[in-house]
Amino acid sequence: MNLEDISTTKSLLSTPQNIVVVPHKNPDGDAIGSCLALYIFLKEMGQNCTVISPNDYPKFLKWMPGNDTILNYEKSPAKCKTILNEASLIFTLDFNDFSRTGALESQLQQSNADFIMIDHHQQPSDYAKVTYSDVSMSSTCEMVYNFIMYLGEGDKINTAIATNLYTGIMTDTGSFKYRSTSSKTHQIVADLIDKGAENMEIHRQVFDTNSPSRLHLLGVALKNMVILKEYRTAYITLSQEELDANNFKKGDTEGFVNYGLTLEGIVLAVIFIENKEEGIIKMSFRSVGDFSVNEFARTHFNGGGHTNAAGGRSNISLEATVDAFKAVLADYKNQLKS
Ligand code: 5GP
Ligand code: MN
Repeated sequence: MNLEDISTTKSLLSTPQNIVVVPHKNPDGDAIGSCLALYIFLKEMGQNCTVISPNDYPKFLKWMPGNDTILNYEKSPAKCKTILNEASLIFTLDFNDFSRTGALESQLQQSNADFIMIDHHQQPSDYAKVTYSDVSMSSTCEMVYNFIMYLGEGDKINTAIATNLYTGIMTDTGSFKYRSTSSKTHQIVADLIDKGAENMEIHRQVFDTNSPSRLHLLGVALKNMVILKEYRTAYITLSQEELDANNFKKGDTEGFVNYGLTLEGIVLAVIFIENKEEGIIKMSFRSVGDFSVNEFARTHFNGGGHTNAAGGRSNISLEATVDAFKAVLADYKNQLKS
């Protein structure tokens, strides 16, 4: 954040505002963690504040401090619309384009509120009065920590805020191992532990609450894995039928895509997940090294994200999507080889 943005933010927060904090659709640990941390912080600042999520999120995040205050737009659209209509300031966290908010998109488009964006994805749209965008950051949670520090309010980081920020940094960095994890990230995480985040307990809550059916589904996913050695690529498919047979719940497939990258020599891993209700195939892309899955997903699959982690979708069948993927992959053979 530059000095001008800090002073604009301070002046916006110097008077009482009706604030709404919004994560992207299908929010993950970083999206929920950053929203809840900011929400608790703004409440401490004496602001009126509500978190509105476009839709539901996984059970393994439903213990996070403040999580019971989150409104789900899909579940209570009328209530959310009223609150959004009265908003004077809207924070958008962990995304940078209204299209990432599903059914909330038109609500955000027609709002007269000022926007503040805090986000670490590539190619931000230009809708906010204050755009705090930094693609080098490990997570939006790391940025919310910086944001609070820029405002000179570090002493307001209590155990609940620290716990939320720790959770989001942990989930978005693959437990502090991805390339974007810097020494600064570790310093922040250390400070969050000092401020009350119980690291072991947080890891347990997020990662050690598997259901038997989720592990069975992982078994199916790993069995379905196809390795395209000539492209140094591994991909997984999960059909709606396979999901149904294993009692699929939101969040159950989180992390499955990463298994492909644990194979020696593989630089691109993909998972295709059929969603009959939405009529789409949801794709997750992961890479190691310089192959940009953000560019790949943006160019071919209506998505985007980061250099090494991105998502996308298609509206054709699972089989046809995989065929389309394999067809475009041919154009990237040299990039994937080098
Ligand atoms: P995931 O594969 O876990 O859903 O997402 C990986 C990363 O890509 C996350 O940072 C997520 O926010 C981003 N992402 C996922 N799906 C989309 C999409 O459809 N469009 C864009 N622009 N980003 C996405
Ligand atoms: Mn994130």
